Amino acid sequence: MRASRFFISTLKEAPSDAEIVSHKLMLRAGMIKRLGSGIYNYLPMGLRVIRKVENIVREEMNRAGAVELLMPVVQPAELWQETGRWDKMGPELMRVKDRHGRDFAIQPTSEEVITDIVRTEIKSYRQLPINFYHIQTKFRDERRPRFGLMRGREFTMKDAYSFDRDVAGMQQSYQIMYDAYVRIFSRFGLQFRAVAADNGAIGGSGSHEFHVIADTGEDALVYCPTSDYAANMEAAEAVALSVTRGAETQSLVKTPTPGKAKCEDVAELLDLPLSQTVKSIVLTVEKEDDGAINKEVWLLLLRGDHDLNEVKASKVPGLADYRFASEAEIVEWFGTPPGYLGPIGTRKPVKVVADRTVANMHDFVCGANELDYHYTGANWGRDLPEPIIVDLRNVVEGDPSPDGKGVLAIQRGIEVGHVFQLGTRYSEDMKATYLDEGGKPQLMQMGCYGIGVTRILGAAIEQNFDDKGIIWPTAIAPFEVVLCPMGYDRSEAVKAEADKLYAALQEAGVDAILDDRGERPGVMFADWELIGVPHRIVIGERGLKEGKLEYQGRRDTAATAVPLAEMAEFIK
Ligand code: ATP
Ligand code: MG
Ligand code: MG
Ligand code: MG
Repeated sequence: MRASRFFISTLKEAPSDAEIVSHKLMLRAGMIKRLGSGIYNYLPMGLRVIRKVENIVREEMNRAGAVELLMPVVQPAELWQETGRWDKMGPELMRVKDRHGRDFAIQPTSEEVITDIVRTEIKSYRQLPINFYHIQTKFRDERRPRFGLMRGREFTMKDAYSFDRDVAGMQQSYQIMYDAYVRIFSRFGLQFRAVAADNGAIGGSGSHEFHVIADTGEDALVYCPTSDYAANMEAAEAVALSVTRGAETQSLVKTPTPGKAKCEDVAELLDLPLSQTVKSIVLTVEKEDDGAINKEVWLLLLRGDHDLNEVKASKVPGLADYRFASEAEIVEWFGTPPGYLGPIGTRKPVKVVADRTVANMHDFVCGANELDYHYTGANWGRDLPEPIIVDLRNVVEGDPSPDGKGVLAIQRGIEVGHVFQLGTRYSEDMKATYLDEGGKPQLMQMGCYGIGVTRILGAAIEQNFDDKGIIWPTAIAPFEVVLCPMGYDRSEAVKAEADKLYAALQEAGVDAILDDRGERPGVMFADWELIGVPHRIVIGERGLKEGKLEYQGRRDTAATAVPLAEMAEFIK
C-alpha cells in the first residue's frame, strides 16, 4: 500500500468523551469514527485490523473442523419466542417491526436461528457432530455503551454452535473449541488467560471465558500461579459462598434465573463497576397473606467504604423499580433491622437477622451481584428461629486456592471470548432432534462459542501502548512494516531505493506501507507511532551513502543500521 493512496487521518487530541486509552488512541489514529452511541464507522485503518483478526479466527475455526455459514442480522421474533428469550432478554434485545407490523429481533447472538437450521437440516446421527460458525454483526442495546469498540452496541462477533449426539460428544466439541481459542489468542500475540465462568443468561452447564490481561479490564480474574486454577471473580466467589445456620453449613448453588436479579441496575445506580465494589444480597421472600403468596424482593447492599452506616436495603416491588431505604424503613417493612453486613475484604460474615415477625416467610433466594443470577439452595425453612449467617467470603489475594495447590492471585482482564456447554437448553425448546442408530429421536447436545472480534482491537491496545500511541502485535497490525523515506519527493536516490525495497517486501509477502506522502520526518514518525505499526524502516540519503537503512521496532529505543541488501531478509 502507498500512503498517498490510502486514508490516513490522525488527530493530536482525542475527543473529550473518550475515557480509556484504547478508545482515545483508536480515535486519534483514525481507526474508528463515532456515528452514534455505541455505533462506529470502521475506517480503513481500523478495518485492516478487524480483517486480520477475522482471518486468524477463520483459519483456526476451519482448522478445528467448524463450517462457516452466514445467518441474518434481522431475525423473526417467532424463533425467539420459541425459547422464551423474546421476553427474557429484556431491553438489550433490539426489536423492530416491519411494514406489516411483524416483530423482528436484531441478533445479539444466534442460538435460535442455528437451532432452526439444524432441526430441519440434520436428520440422522450420521450427520453429527457438526459445528457451524459465522462472523457477523451483532446488536446489543447495552445499558452503558462505552469505551469505543470495547462495549459497543453494534459490534462484530464470531459465534460458533456445535451439535452432538450425547454429552460426551458435546464435551469433546467444547474441548476442540477451547483448544482452538488458545491457538487464536496466541496467534494474536496477546497475553491472555482462560478462566472458569458461569453460564449467565445464555443457560447451560459449563463455561470458560478468555480474557486479555489488562489493568484497565472490567473483570477481576482469580488464579493460582502454581497450578491450573483460574476463574472469574463471580465463579470464584460462588464456590466460596456458604450459609451457616446454627452449626450447619449449607453450600449454595449459583444458577441463572433470567430476568430476576437487578444487580446491573444497582451497579449503575451506585456508579460502581459490577462485581467489584457493589456487594448485594437479593432476598426473594414469599409471604403468605390470607392464603395468597406474595413475592417480595429485597436487596441488601453494601457500598462505598463499606461502613456499617452505608448498609442500605431496598424493596423491589414487583421487581420493577427500587430505592434505597433507611434503616427505620427496613425495620418497618421487615420487622427487623436489615442485618449486619461486614466490610468487604475483611471476611467478616454477613448476618441476615430474622425473627418471629417474618416467621411466615418460607423461601429465600439470595442473589449474586450479577445480572440474572441468584444463589439458590438457601431455603431456610418455614420458621427462622435463629440468626442466619451468610458468609460472602470475598476472595482476596493470598487466599488458599480451591485446588489446594497454592495461594490465589488476582488480576484484571477484558473478556474477549466465551465458550459454553449448553446441553439441551435450546434443542429442547425448539425440538432439535436426530434419529439414533435405533431410529429413535434424541435431543441434540449443543455448545456455543463467541469471540468479540471488534473488542479484540480495544483489548489489544489496552495491553500494548505507550505515550506515543498504539503498539500492535505484528499478527494484527494494520500494516506490518512502514517504509519512511526521508525526502521521497526530493531525492531520486531515496525514491528509487524506497520503491525497490517496497517491491521486494511485497514480493516476499510482507504487508508493508510506503509513506510516499512527502511529509516531514517528525510528522511521519509521529503518525506511524500513533497508528502503532510494529516495524519501521527509514531510507535516508546519508545512510544510503554507506549502503545502509535504519530499522526500528516500535518498542525499540534506538534504530539499528541494516545493510541495504539484507533488509528484505531482515524484516521477514
Ligand atoms: P460482557 O460481559 O462484556 O457484557 P457478554 O458476556 O455479555 O460480554 P457474550 O454473550 O459471552 O458476551 O458474547 C461473546 C463475546 O462477545 C464476549 O466474550 C465479548 O468478547 C463480545 N461482546 C459482548 N458484548 C459486546 C459488546 N457490547 N461490544 C463488543 N463486544 C462484545
Ligand atoms: Mg453483556
Ligand atoms: Mg460476560
Ligand atoms: Mg460472556
